[in-house]
Amino acid sequence: MIKLEHLNKTFGNHQALTDINTEFKEHQTTVIVGPSGSGKSTLLRSLNLLERPENGLYHFNDETIDFTKPLTSKTILTIRRKTGMVFQGYNLFPHLSVLKNVMEGPVQVLKQDAAAAQKTALDLLDKVGLQDKADAYPGQLSGGQQQRVAIARSLAMNPEYILLDEPTSALDPELEAGVLRVLLALAQEQDSMIIVTHNMEFARAVADKILFVEDGKILFDGTPAEFFKQPTQRIADFLAAMT
Ligand code: ADP
Ligand code: MG
Repeated sequence: MIKLEHLNKTFGNHQALTDINTEFKEHQTTVIVGPSGSGKSTLLRSLNLLERPENGLYHFNDETIDFTKPLTSKTILTIRRKTGMVFQGYNLFPHLSVLKNVMEGPVQVLKQDAAAAQKTALDLLDKVGLQDKADAYPGQLSGGQQQRVAIARSLAMNPEYILLDEPTSALDPELEAGVLRVLLALAQEQDSMIIVTHNMEFARAVADKILFVEDGKILFDGTPAEFFKQPTQRIADFLAAMT
């Protein structure tokens, strides 16, 4: 389980996160929503240590990071392994086939043998609906297919949590649907996921928990059922503006 206590992060004189306290349970999907510039990406990137809050505690299972203290490279490596960030599909290796893209991390980083890594990679490509594209190159795929390869590649590293920052924001609606279907299936298999999205219909379908972030603060932390009942005027206004 991930637990955050009193996290604060500033960029220059801009406070991007203010006193963040929350938990991300295993086998649950948390969806982070909120207006543009509210701190959603900063929160997600802090979980992967791509951003470094100035203070606060980050508990990951038995490990605790106190952000006022220097981080060791061992801690950074451990946390990065456990939290797989799915970047927009564009950072696939263009000169490697889809299959090799998915195998690369397990073989190079986790030192799996090629046959085992290939078997896992093919299973994962099957899972994201791209078994017939194993030998294609990223440039031959649509944006939605590339994003599904990026998801398979992240899963191949077997992280405990999968982090996705607006995974479909660059996609046309008809390509978005395929990616959302894959994420919904992962959620139903009870993978542990944390997803930033503007798609409220998807949030409602996939989330076990919703975080509503505004101006660097968590203004709502609860179930989708509660959230979509519009418990505050601010949430009602936000939802009205999103539809
Ligand atoms: P969101 O993902 O909700 O749109 P972000 O977490 O990206 O918001 O950004 C939160 C705030 O922090 C914004 O005001 C943004 O401009 C600022 N910010 C984010 N990253 C940086 C950075 N590297 N340097 C300076 N300001 C940043
Ligand atoms: Mg963002």
